Parts: sequence; C-alpha cells; structure tokens
Amino acid sequence: MPVRGGCLCGRVEFEVDLPFAKFVKCHCSRCRQATGSAFAANAYVLPPAFRWLAGQDHVARFDLPQARSFSTSFCRECGSPLPHATRSGREVIIPAGSLKEDPGASPTIDACWQSRARWLSDAVDLPTSD
Ligand SMILES: [Zn+2]
Ligand SMILES: [Zn+2]
Repeated sequence: MPVRGGCLCGRVEFEVDLPFAKFVKCHCSRCRQATGSAFAANAYVLPPAFRWLAGQDHVARFDLPQARSFSTSFCRECGSPLPHATRSGREVIIPAGSLKEDPGASPTIDACWQSRARWLSDAVDLPTSD
C-alpha cells in the first residue's frame, strides 16, 4: 500500500510504496539548516517505490556544492521540503514530514547524534516517564 505526501500549498503530490528501506533521524548541522528544525526525519526507498502524482515542475533541487552527497528539494511556491533522489540515483529520500498519511513505521537510526542541537530539550536523552 502506498502512502501519499505533498507540499504545504498543495501543488506537489507524490506517493511512495511501503515499507521504507530505512528510516533515519539525522541530527547533523546540514540537516538542521535544511529543515529549520532540530533534526531531519528521512525515509529512504528504492527509486521504483516512488512516484510523483502532481506538480513535479514546481520541484526545485539544491545540491550543496561542498558536500559529497548532500541535497535538498523543495516546492518553488511554498518552500516545503520534498523527496529527491540521492546524487548516485540509487535511493530516493523522503522527508517524513512531507507525508500526509502515517507510514506505520518510526525512525530506527539516530545519525550524527554527537552533532545534535543542544537547545533541544534534554528530554530527548531520557525515556519519558508518563
Ligand atoms: Zn507547495
Ligand atoms: Zn544530516
């Protein structure tokens, strides 16, 4: 069963087949800049598992020049992060916040944990008690 996603303004829509190949939270500084948040939550799938449904011409891509592989995609109209192929083309990265339906899975990897935002509550280090 595919799950659907899209951008805030609604021009871009996509669907992705489950399950994800991997589901990662990345705490690196590039992911923080790119998302404006404490970490990126990215699902990875093989290219055949991903399809644009609408608005692909509104999707812009940015390849960070000084990085070996860091890229982002976003809607030209509303700026929402959107899926993009890795530079190798071997995988498609889905920003999990762009999904409009629950994929029924949670991230299993905390990448770059040592680089995490120190302003995020220490609660992320601790299991919640309630
Ligand atoms: Zn949009
Ligand atoms: Zn990262």
